[in-house]
Amino acid sequence: MKSLGSIRRDFAPWNDPDAKPYIQFENVTKKFGDFTAVNNLSLTIFEREFFALLGASGCGKSTLLRMLAGFEEPTAGRILLDGQDLRGIPPYRRPVNMMFQSYALFPHMTVENNIAFGLKQEGMPTPDIEKRVAEMLKLVKLEQFAKRKPHQLSGGQRQRVALARSVAKRPKVLLLDEPLGALDKKLREETQFELMDLQQNLGLTFVVVTHDQEEAMTMADRIAIIDKGEVMQVATPAEVYEAPGSRFVAGFVGNVNMFEGKIARGETGPASIDAGNGITIQTDNAGNATAGAAVTFAIRPEKIKVSSKKPQEAVNAIEGEVYDIAYLGDMTVYHVRLDDGQVVRASTMNAARVTEDPLTWNDRAWVSFRPDAGVVLTR
Ligand code: ATP
Repeated sequence: MKSLGSIRRDFAPWNDPDAKPYIQFENVTKKFGDFTAVNNLSLTIFEREFFALLGASGCGKSTLLRMLAGFEEPTAGRILLDGQDLRGIPPYRRPVNMMFQSYALFPHMTVENNIAFGLKQEGMPTPDIEKRVAEMLKLVKLEQFAKRKPHQLSGGQRQRVALARSVAKRPKVLLLDEPLGALDKKLREETQFELMDLQQNLGLTFVVVTHDQEEAMTMADRIAIIDKGEVMQVATPAEVYEAPGSRFVAGFVGNVNMFEGKIARGETGPASIDAGNGITIQTDNAGNATAGAAVTFAIRPEKIKVSSKKPQEAVNAIEGEVYDIAYLGDMTVYHVRLDDGQVVRASTMNAARVTEDPLTWNDRAWVSFRPDAGVVLTR
């Protein structure tokens, strides 16, 4: 069986019918006046899961997080944590901590005092605080910065102090709102791996809000794609990418080519799609779409091959003209204009330093792909 599973091979409680969800959003609606920010949304998250809420700005993802933290109450529906209805429970009584977009460190306090702050407020005995702070500094690799103030740190270091502070109280769930938003690209990537390590080592449940699909794909066990206050799909990164459930999800995550067409032949399983202008696409899995159904055939650029000659063995091969080429070093992206005018995007890894089939602008070219290379979408 081909796998589209999770990155952590042994961790997939969502596939276990006996696994108990840890966090449950049950038909949750949140209105601000007439405006519906979250619309009858249901979602379950499991203990120790790294869960990402992914969506465009304004889709309602921060509102979901704020309701879980207790800063907002749902207008309708319930949120349960470990089976307990959270309604009416104030934020500080919830086993949940939130790390905000801006880290909100105290500027006049040292790193260690920033980390200790919440523990002191809780009335933890001083020796225990010292022990915990030392543990946290080690965890985020900031031991030698304990006596510095936030302005004496880099953005990445400040981010780690904020992280240490938010896990110091050992919450069961850590909520992170755009946690890496302030970091530059390289540091972001490094910190993504650090966050994943931290989450694994502490055995916590992380719910992270991001609008950055790469970030969600890198870190999360599962991703919920949110649009206009509704869940479009919840799945592992691999499923979201390789088996999107709708045109919206296919288009939202990564690059994709879409062919509109009708199923010409086939009941369930293999089918041919009439995509107009003499283009027929053979697919080995059209799902439940039957003859006559209007469908979209979605295929990722890296699953399309570009060549100057028609490949002999190809089941699907369409002719066109090279319209644009972007050489990106590790890969080359071709835009090929088919004879019906549609532009297809195809990408090739540059595994070798030279190519045997060089193509340039305005060359005639063939795009080809296997029958299992794309997905057939009906919504
Ligand atoms: P971003 O990535 O920009 O933070 P988001 O997906 O997190 O966006 P939310 O902050 O959840 O979006 O907001 C969802 C919608 O609800 C937005 O249109 C926002 O303007 C609206 N909204 C949020 N809070 C309030 C409020 N207190 N009063 C009125 N409208 C609000």
